[in-house]
Amino acid sequence: MSGSKEGMKFWLGMYPSVTFADGKCHILPGFGNTALFETELGLVLFDVPIRQLAQKTFNEVRDITNKQVKYLIFSHGHFDHAFGFEPFLKEIEEKGWEIPKIIGHENILRRFKKYKMLDQYHEWINSQQFASIAPKDKKGSTISPEYSLDPSILLVGNEAKYSFNLGGIDFDLYHDKGETDDSIWLWVPEKEVICTGDLLLSSFPNIGNPYKVQRYPLDWALALEKMLEKDAKFLIPGHGKFIEGRENVKDALSITSEALHFVHDGVVKRLNEGKWFEQIYHEMMDIFPDKFKKHRILSPIYGCYRFAIHATYRLYHGWYDTGNPTDLFPAKSNEIAIELLQITDARTYLNHAISLFEKDDYQLALHFIDIVLKGREKVNDDLYLDALILKSKILKKKATAEPSFIATNIISNAVNQLKGEIKVLKQKLVK
Ligand SMILES: [Zn+2]
Repeated sequence: MSGSKEGMKFWLGMYPSVTFADGKCHILPGFGNTALFETELGLVLFDVPIRQLAQKTFNEVRDITNKQVKYLIFSHGHFDHAFGFEPFLKEIEEKGWEIPKIIGHENILRRFKKYKMLDQYHEWINSQQFASIAPKDKKGSTISPEYSLDPSILLVGNEAKYSFNLGGIDFDLYHDKGETDDSIWLWVPEKEVICTGDLLLSSFPNIGNPYKVQRYPLDWALALEKMLEKDAKFLIPGHGKFIEGRENVKDALSITSEALHFVHDGVVKRLNEGKWFEQIYHEMMDIFPDKFKKHRILSPIYGCYRFAIHATYRLYHGWYDTGNPTDLFPAKSNEIAIELLQITDARTYLNHAISLFEKDDYQLALHFIDIVLKGREKVNDDLYLDALILKSKILKKKATAEPSFIATNIISNAVNQLKGEIKVLKQKLVK
């Protein structure tokens, strides 16, 4: 198994649960990680798994203890942290127990509202982003907003904090923006453990996800610095392996914070120098330091540095990102392609794409194939089929070499779509 595949296995929570500290703290992987704390007076849960794994996690909790869940904390409102609560509620109802206190940041309510408004759209983008692991029937695969559970205790505002004590153990919650605007992280001083939610997730931070809304690089870096001040001995990330030992915790938090500062400050500096996105992106790619490239906790298996450059630019900039007025109100790309094909025929473009492909310049080859594909009405079926096949071949190679799960899925989805088009066209040509 390659390093990135192995890392992704952990990221997806495909590893056994772990008990640590005094034997009363547990990490229960269920896609994302659920943390369980046992106290004399009941249980504290930090996050719940995805809905499909809710029963599994519930059973694991009940193998450990029969105590009531007294507090349920949502690190944020994403489908893999705040939706797998049903078996717990069912048990409460059956046993006539008191509903636990449910804690979230006030912005989680806005998020749940948004999920209801954009239900089908989110179902679609998540089916794209998680295509390689999505259930075949697609139904309810990710978010089911009708089942969201609103918190009964809200952290309010940007500097929000909330502490409670259960069974003599203090639980301190902090809000900081990062992957989302509703993030909460937990510090349990007596156990010396931090639960980060997705502010740390065993990959380069998921900032600049191509499908998702704006994220917050500077706030994120500062949140990790606040966590560093705790000098924790144990760290439960939102996804992936549990981190143990003060030095390891410090290393994971500090290198991630440093990488976020690096991308943030680098983009800001170049914006101030009057540069446009293309220049900023390529300059930032050229200066990405080896110490980040080589660090295991920053491996680009889910989020990646390339996406982070986009995220930071987008945070401070509008959509007009080239500085070229041609792009302000552009013509349709297929009209441009048709004009290009009037100057030089499609075969010449495709041959040029083939020669670039043979030199392993896959990205440039794709741009030339796209001229042929977009100029469809000027291209005969045989040539069009050749272009589809070449594009599919190049994308397959790119998908195989791509470390980021999200990028791989985007590319592989296109390969599947091309396969369908190729099949239909081949059938047409046989007739
Ligand atoms: Zn997550």
